[in-house]
Order: sequence, then C-alpha cells, then structure tokens
Amino acid sequence: MRILLIEDDEALGQALLEALGDAGYVAEWVRRGDDAAEMALDAAYDLALLDLGLPRMDGIEVLRHIRQRRDAYLPVIIITARDRPAHRIAGLDAGADDYVVKPFDPDELIARIRSQLRRRDGRGSNIISVRAVDLDLAGATVRLNGEPVAMSARELKVLTLLMRRAGRFVSKEDVNAAIYDDSADIESNTVEVAVSVIRRKLGRDFIVTARGLGYTVPK
Ligand code: CA
Repeated sequence: MRILLIEDDEALGQALLEALGDAGYVAEWVRRGDDAAEMALDAAYDLALLDLGLPRMDGIEVLRHIRQRRDAYLPVIIITARDRPAHRIAGLDAGADDYVVKPFDPDELIARIRSQLRRRDGRGSNIISVRAVDLDLAGATVRLNGEPVAMSARELKVLTLLMRRAGRFVSKEDVNAAIYDDSADIESNTVEVAVSVIRRKLGRDFIVTARGLGYTVPK
C-alpha cells in the first residue's frame, strides 16, 4: 500500500514517515500544496494524508483538485490543527473521508488509515468491463481480451467517461469537458482524434457515433 503524505512541518512529517514505515506502508512525503495536487493524481497511491496549511496551495484546494481530476477514488484523511467545527465541515464537504486534529496519537492515525483502506476495498472492484475490454481505474490500465493496450492519458479519460456511461450517449461537449478543466484552448478535433485512436486500438465498433447525440460504448 502506498500512501502520499502531504505535510509541510518537518518534525511531524519525519515522525509520520517513520510511523507509516513501521506500520508496513510505503510512504512518500511532499511538502508543497501545488506539488501534492499533481502527485496525488498518480493512480499508484492508495491513500493520502493531507495537512491543510500548506505552502503554495491550501489543503482544501488540493483536495478539490483531487476530487475533480482523479479518476480512481483516493481516500483522503485530513490531518490539521484547524479544530473548529466549521473547519471540519469545510474539509468533509470538500471530499475528505476522515478528519484528524493535531496533536494526535500516531497509532490512532494508523488505525484510521486501516479503516479507510478496508472501506475502499469494500467499495468493490475498480474495474469496468464492457465486452472484451477491461478498464482498471486504480491502475489506469486497459486490457483487450486480457492483453494490455497502451493508452495516452487523454485517451484514458475519454475511454473512462464512455465506459462509465456504457449504453448511453455522451455529447461531444461532455467528452471535451472531461478532457479539459476549463474551456481554454480546446482544439475542435481533439475528441475526434482521441476516439479514432481508441477505435484503432480496441476495434472500430467499440465506440459508436451518432449525429447530434455524440458517442456511446454499446454494452
Ligand atoms: Ca502545515
């Protein structure tokens, strides 16, 4: 299990890194909010511990970024000195799974990590299967008839959206929105290009286009 430790306090970060290691977890420590927001998108992480007062980007912003941008669900436990109910509410509303106030007992934190990982496993498989294609959201991998198929990040986003809504049409605008955070510099044929590459890799009929309706992955 890999844990992303997001904490700018040197002493606490060091102590947590050791406690996580002792508990058998592989932990990577990042101190800046903006770096954390990028690293957390890596599907290899199973859980994140998130401080709120961080340089460059506040922890709440980091959390919103993760919830908007990451396909596979990442359990996030906030670790913070902000102990007012309004702070807890803001953290939970932004998508935190748990909220632990400093100072805390490292053993209790480890127990809460175990609990979150159990719950995540209980959410069931992270694999979406449609016909001969298996998409593993956690590992961000695609298999066709059991054989791995390489996909770019953009192709994966398009494929994930269409497979999640398999059997229903998705408009080109919605596919575009899934690729980009905002409308900046969208090239008009980006979606078409991604869809055509996916078809080449997974078979022509895997994605069906209908004029005026958009795209669908038939079940
Ligand atoms: Ca801090």
